Amino acid sequence: MIHNLSDHNSLLNNILAEIRDVKTQSDPLRFRRNLERCGEIFAYEISKTLSYENKDVITPLGTAGVSVFANKIVLATILRAGLPIHHGFLNYFDRAENAFISAYRVYDKGGSFTIKFEHISSPGIKGKTVILSDPMMATGASAVMAYKALREKGTPKHTHIVSVIASKEGIEYVRQNLPMQKTSIWVGAIDDELTSKAYIVPGLGDAGDLAFGSKTVD
Ligand code: URA
Repeated sequence: MIHNLSDHNSLLNNILAEIRDVKTQSDPLRFRRNLERCGEIFAYEISKTLSYENKDVITPLGTAGVSVFANKIVLATILRAGLPIHHGFLNYFDRAENAFISAYRVYDKGGSFTIKFEHISSPGIKGKTVILSDPMMATGASAVMAYKALREKGTPKHTHIVSVIASKEGIEYVRQNLPMQKTSIWVGAIDDELTSKAYIVPGLGDAGDLAFGSKTVD
């Protein structure tokens, strides 16, 4: 199941417009906060697909019957670009457990790359609902790598893969490599192209650098 939030107009469009805009990107605080706001919006949309159970809540004046979600949520992200969107998810799923995956691209001389997995810090995920966020789904290789690393911690009930911007190629790669009957893909927008270095076009540039600064050593 693929949910492209751009299929319906909403205030997310305005946030995506700012996130992509080179002028607004010069303000890293706003860039990070916009990614965080995307996480909050995705959290709300995903919450509509969870399982709910009834609960009685004692108020000062009586008892209110409320329907609350019953899923055990694990929020997972890929360092470092995933941190702001992860924080947005955590603002809403405030009692969730958390997983962090460290990985990076290793380029060869021809410009192609492999994803090198380094470390995972995660609770057990058996039977839980995993929300794995990565702001940019370019080739899809990072999301698949992160999912495989998480599977060492158990078999989740369901996995939601979330990206602010995805490429068509990335979505197809994820669809081919993850168990789609137990996986949902959520994106804010789908762009057509990738550069030779696998950056999304028009995309927004390098999300990690825009949020946290360049990694280039002087
Ligand atoms: N990562 C990014 O930050 N941007 C892209 O376009 C692709 C991967």
